[in-house]
Amino acid sequence: MMVNKCDLCKVELEKEPVMAGFGFWGRTELCEDCGQPIINFLKEKKLIEKESKQNVRR
Ligand SMILES: [Zn+2]
Repeated sequence: MMVNKCDLCKVELEKEPVMAGFGFWGRTELCEDCGQPIINFLKEKKLIEKESKQNVRR
């Protein structure tokens, strides 16, 4: 079974990772601590659409 790790702090993710998919970075899996500020930043700069659509598909 695959273990998800945060791409920034390398901590193992026990919950669902925060997916930050954008341009040059490809798709990055982050823990909430690392992911949330990045998501917020990208939203602020309008670099990504809302990621919430992902959560609908379960
Ligand atoms: Zn992290």
